[in-house]
Amino acid sequence: MSCLKGKSEHKEKPGRFKCKKCAAVSKKKNLLCKPKKIKSAD
Ligand SMILES: [Zn+2]
Repeated sequence: MSCLKGKSEHKEKPGRFKCKKCAAVSKKKNLLCKPKKIKSAD
């Protein structure tokens, strides 16, 4: 699987994943090259 390359599928929200390399956001971490789970603000 390749990364979304900056084209986010979803808004940035807790429980989703954000690519550390290109900043794309997805619910599926396998779509991202460097996935990092987005934590809630508190
Ligand atoms: Zn990426």
